[in-house]
Amino acid sequence: MSAPTDRHLLAIRTGLGYDSHRLVEGRRLVIGGVDVPHSHGLAGHSDADALVHAICDALLGAAGLGDIGTHFPDTDPQYADADSIDLLRRVRGLVEVDHEIVNVDSTIHAERPKMAPHIPEMRTRLAAALRLPERRVNVKAKTGEGVGPVGTRQAIEATAIATLVERDVA
Ligand code: MG
Repeated sequence: MSAPTDRHLLAIRTGLGYDSHRLVEGRRLVIGGVDVPHSHGLAGHSDADALVHAICDALLGAAGLGDIGTHFPDTDPQYADADSIDLLRRVRGLVEVDHEIVNVDSTIHAERPKMAPHIPEMRTRLAAALRLPERRVNVKAKTGEGVGPVGTRQAIEATAIATLVERDVA
């Protein structure tokens, strides 16, 4: 086999993200930057947008920049009820110092409500925050098949993966 000749192949970075928030009464349900009508919402210090938090962690992970908690600690009052889309914009800024974002893929794990009708708007909001075309920001949804914290509607979880290209790799 010959050695790779395309420098970009040497500069690809991938990162994994995961988040989970408890479903409780009396909170808005914000997923992927979209207000999803539901009887319950996600508990958390910020707006508790598990999908956006997972995407932030995937991006930071790919760039070797730690995680969302180190950059935006949930003990800091300035992030109380924070709009997570704002955090995503800030993460993009951190990551883009040394990298270009290639794509993001993600999955929402939720028993209820149905996410499919809201996914196009989520992609629009996420892609705008990341300044990417929507085809490079994918969102999928799965149920928990009635078991576990997701299936018994105690929590909504999200997983994400991001791919970056490092700029000017030596
Ligand atoms: Mg979170």
